[in-house]
Amino acid sequence: MTTFADLGLSQKVLSAVTDAGYNTPTPIQAGAIPPALERRDILGIAQTGTGKTASFVLPMLTLLEKGRARARMPRTLILEPTRELAAQVAENFEKYGKNHKLNVALLIGGVSFDEQDRKLERGADVLICTPGRLLDHCERGKLLMTGVEILVIDEADRMLDMGFIPDIERIAKMIPFTRQTLFFSATMPPEIQKLADQFLQNPTRIEVAPPSSTAKTVTQRLVACHNKDYEKRSKLRDLIRAQDDLKNAIIFCNRKKDVADLFRSLDRHGFSVGALHGDMDQRSRTTMLANFKANAITLLVASDVAARGLDIPDVSHVFNFDVPIHAEDYVHRIGRTGRAGRSGAAFTLVTRSDTKFLDAIEKLIDKKIDWLDGDVSALPAPAESDEPQRGRGKGRDRDRGGRGKSRSHKPDTRREDTAEAVAVQEAPETARTESVAVENQRVEHRKPQGGRHQGRPYPANDDHRERRRRRDDDDGPTPVGFGDDIPAFMLIVANAKI
Ligand code: AMP
Repeated sequence: MTTFADLGLSQKVLSAVTDAGYNTPTPIQAGAIPPALERRDILGIAQTGTGKTASFVLPMLTLLEKGRARARMPRTLILEPTRELAAQVAENFEKYGKNHKLNVALLIGGVSFDEQDRKLERGADVLICTPGRLLDHCERGKLLMTGVEILVIDEADRMLDMGFIPDIERIAKMIPFTRQTLFFSATMPPEIQKLADQFLQNPTRIEVAPPSSTAKTVTQRLVACHNKDYEKRSKLRDLIRAQDDLKNAIIFCNRKKDVADLFRSLDRHGFSVGALHGDMDQRSRTTMLANFKANAITLLVASDVAARGLDIPDVSHVFNFDVPIHAEDYVHRIGRTGRAGRSGAAFTLVTRSDTKFLDAIEKLIDKKIDWLDGDVSALPAPAESDEPQRGRGKGRDRDRGGRGKSRSHKPDTRREDTAEAVAVQEAPETARTESVAVENQRVEHRKPQGGRHQGRPYPANDDHRERRRRRDDDDGPTPVGFGDDIPAFMLIVANAKI
């Protein structure tokens, strides 16, 4: 069996790997590290959870032991699609680079330029960036890319989904042709293959798992429901409550607005819940993630963009509040549970209008997913509502506005007769307690007791839509009533290092 010592890594790196408690390299590590150390280009087809981060961090650390960084001239560059992934890679450098004295600079949006400038001025051995922020620094004349010896493009298929490819092409043009390029993607659609052909020279190709497979340890079920949001939310609550073995769960929505809506709904229904979407400021995102990892929050409602690739070990359940539009996203979502051979459960809410997307998923994973209680054709006629019938009509929304939470956009009338309106109406205005931080490790089924969170509405700004799309953004308009102002109780940092 291959050991880390067989791969050609330096003593400093080997000692840090031993301290991290890893004995055996994962297949992507065993396949990528030796050629990376020989300065070969790498095409790694691997999903997160396979140990792919260490497969480029460990050889980079070894190679960086020779040479020194110069001011404003980074020696290596790692491009990540989201801020969280970039931060995770930085943590990997901290963990595996603890015996090195390397300057690692993290350039991500949502953080002030000044501190980042200072790090660049000192000379960065490793620059970890989201593409938008890197280009911002370049445009400000703070960076010279001509010293970059190693370029890592991580999660290339995600970069494609997020519209980052033109940015990456621009960045790659600034870096000398003689560089070494390490390119990773979970899937290889034709556009990504084209990009790999363009960026890589005679690469070593390592493919560790079929990109379209879901782990055998995950029990997958489809749950038929009507397509009204309030019915889906009600069904989801029932499902969550029915899970005896639920330790923690990620609930995926297709759009960030729905992330915000669902978060508010679950919060009002007394669940221990947090949310993660691309419009939240960096501090909120980081804290939310830390709280989830530390089990201070049991449920995390998330968009694909925000959750992609996050290293959250041991999630017991995944719920797809929406059937993902891109079939590959299903594989990624499900991949959040059942990691490292553990068992997991994944439930997907399916409405009649989702059948096209469901077909695509079943085709991709090459198997039929079982229904929990009959398919959509077995659904009873749509219920009026399984929530109390009070609180209906337009007056409700006006009432909400009258309680000091003016909405800065035209109300979505479809939502006015939802459980949401009822719940808001009934919720007393007392401040919510710090229950999220203290009542951990189980799903709370208590009755709603607190008032609404302190989220301040902020309007969607279409002028900036294009710009935001280019950055780490998820689909859909900016959510109303949830964003930069996360309720204070959710920002209590749990004891988790992320
Ligand atoms: P990644 O695919 O890079 O997101 O890594 C997934 C998880 O696997 C992380 O928690 C790593 O710390 C862990 N990991 C990385 N390499 C190994 C290894 N050789 N053995 C066991 N776990 C590992």
